Amino acid sequence: MAEFSSILVEWQSSAVSWLNSRVVFSRFMNGRVPSSKRYRLTDYEHAANCATHGLWIIPSLVGGSVLYFLSVDQWQAAAAWLYGAGLSGLFISSTLFHTVAWKIRHLRGAAFPHATCVTHVAIYFFIAASYTPWLMLRELGPWSSHMRWIIWIMAVIGSTYVYYFHERYKLVELLGYVAMGAGPALVILSMADTAGLCELAVGEIFYVVGVAFFKSDGVVPFAHAIWHLFVAMGAATHYYAIWRHLYTPGH
Ligand SMILES: [Zn+2]
Repeated sequence: MAEFSSILVEWQSSAVSWLNSRVVFSRFMNGRVPSSKRYRLTDYEHAANCATHGLWIIPSLVGGSVLYFLSVDQWQAAAAWLYGAGLSGLFISSTLFHTVAWKIRHLRGAAFPHATCVTHVAIYFFIAASYTPWLMLRELGPWSSHMRWIIWIMAVIGSTYVYYFHERYKLVELLGYVAMGAGPALVILSMADTAGLCELAVGEIFYVVGVAFFKSDGVVPFAHAIWHLFVAMGAATHYYAIWRHLYTPGH
């Protein structure tokens, strides 16, 4: 009997601490909403969303410039420009979008009808830009080398689609991202020189794990900001791989 009551007390105290943690989190997180409605972020979450990508704007601009100055021919220079633009473009547009969503919410309907659209377009160009240094600077087979320009055509098609049908067919859009992510990855896997593949895979893992937080608003506090951090870690790993294996080989 004594044992039973001690279990009961223990259970009660853990229930109380769970409730307390919910109360603590409730400052930072609002309740979950049905899928037809948009989750309402707390001010803390808005701030975290802006900060977790805003923080990377300067480093990504510096990072792109570093690759440009390390370039020894025009191919490397062009790849540094394209990659640097895609990388910093993602963080700049994401930060702008989240600032608009937070501070000028009432303007969103009128002045920024395509606010979400801008970030989706940035994602397409970011994916294309991330693969570009590998596709431009590594020895590829005669067929695989066409991926260099196909990936940009895919980004343009994806962006056009997002512009006209934005958020209407989410599954089509998701398939678009998967096709853009997986297509060039298959080409890169067939490279003769495999140095850097390990870092590329680690970067992919960051993106895939991060997606788990993408739709967890209202379940995990700061879910979207956590997703941002995973994106930043994936991008940083890919940057390291490009810097190490394509711009400073033998380093
Ligand atoms: Zn975001």
